[in-house]
Amino acid sequence: MTVPIPPLTIGCQVQLRKAHPCGSAVWVVTRLGADIGLRCVGCGRQVLLSRNVLAKRLKRVLSVEKTIQKDSE
Ligand SMILES: [Zn+2]
Repeated sequence: MTVPIPPLTIGCQVQLRKAHPCGSAVWVVTRLGADIGLRCVGCGRQVLLSRNVLAKRLKRVLSVEKTIQKDSE
């Protein structure tokens, strides 16, 4: 059974229920797909979590950037 998670975009910050050992509970989304890539803002460690695991650990989404601006030229 798939647990829904809020829509995420690359670059948005999420807060997890449990803080990382470095003391930060805030992560930046670095990859979207079957697994979600997160980078800890405290120590820079990168992890991959399945959507189900993330749904259980996610506390809240701190910021959502609606568009990722790339060079449009
Ligand atoms: Zn950390």
